[in-house]
Amino acid sequence: MFPAPFDYQRAHSAQEAIDALAAHGADARVLAGGQSLIPAMRYRLARPPVLVDINPASELVYFREADGSLQIGAGTRDFAVETAPFVAPRYHLIADASVLIADPVVRQMGTVVGSLCHNDPAGDWPAVALAGRASMVLRSSAGTRVVPIDEFIVDSYTTSLRDGEMAVEVRFPIPGARTSGSYQKIERKVGDFATASAAVQVSLDAAGKIAGAGVAIGAVGPSAMRVVEAEKLLDGNAPSKELIADAARAAEKLADPSPDNRGSVEYKKAMAGVLVRRALTNAFVRLGVGGLT
Ligand SMILES: Cc1cc2nc3c(=O)[nH]c(=O)nc-3n(C[C@H](O)[C@H](O)[C@H](O)COP(=O)(O)OP(=O)(O)OC[C@H]3O[C@@H](n4cnc5c(N)ncnc54)[C@H](O)[C@@H]3O)c2cc1C
Repeated sequence: MFPAPFDYQRAHSAQEAIDALAAHGADARVLAGGQSLIPAMRYRLARPPVLVDINPASELVYFREADGSLQIGAGTRDFAVETAPFVAPRYHLIADASVLIADPVVRQMGTVVGSLCHNDPAGDWPAVALAGRASMVLRSSAGTRVVPIDEFIVDSYTTSLRDGEMAVEVRFPIPGARTSGSYQKIERKVGDFATASAAVQVSLDAAGKIAGAGVAIGAVGPSAMRVVEAEKLLDGNAPSKELIADAARAAEKLADPSPDNRGSVEYKKAMAGVLVRRALTNAFVRLGVGGLT
């Protein structure tokens, strides 16, 4: 099917995009990689009267460490994250996820920020951003605000973006030396959306106790969710098989999936627990913790 008619505006800078969004208000939608928006328009699930294409805005294409954060601009494709040499050795959670999103063709076009703005309940980046304690930098004609990802993610396909506002960047705090993470995903076949997923990031103190844990699950609820109970269980304790099993149970309890052709409610809940267990074990093993496997 063809999309409903729409006006198309090319933005050559963030400011041009913001001016166009301000002029059209709720009628305008940002076009980033187009990997979710264009199919939705073709199926007439979305009928935005105006598209503001940010692809010509080269100033939004950056992927850098600055001011204690990994900063990913709104024009940065998944592919750039996957292939950046400094990611795999230090950003374990992000590196794991970057190769599991869709397929290489989609990753050549799709953007990290676009995925977060789309907030598909089965998307990979929302769970990663929750576990990695990311923040979104949002800009409009009224100014700039920095919103923690917990406040940005509201519900299925819903974020706290306001009319006339665009996301210009997502920021992840740079992990410390004794921090690791892991992303685990079950998919029916390579390139599919998740049946269930888990993202974790953990830090250890000098005594080997857990000093901060981020745990999130995806595809098993209306949107990706932080498993706060698991984070509280982990914090301040030494990693052990029993502790990991308790955290996994908290994830299974929180999961609230819908049944579909990817699996039943019972299966998806069980997988949320299994994936949190695998992700935590993997992250602690990466930090050199023994006796967990
Ligand atoms: C075949 C296929 C398989 C896929 N599999 C997966 C998968 O396994 N896992 C996964 O996570 N995703 C998957 N995707 C989705 C893909 O990752 C998308 O690229 C991503 O969800 C959206 O990013 P985008 O840059 O293409 O955004 P677009 O499609 O351009 O935009 C998506 C939405 O976000 C809004 N938006 C985008 N950027 C901004 C911004 N800077 N500010 C404000 N609003 C913005 C748009 O207005 C639109 O509403 C798949 C897509 C396809 C086509």
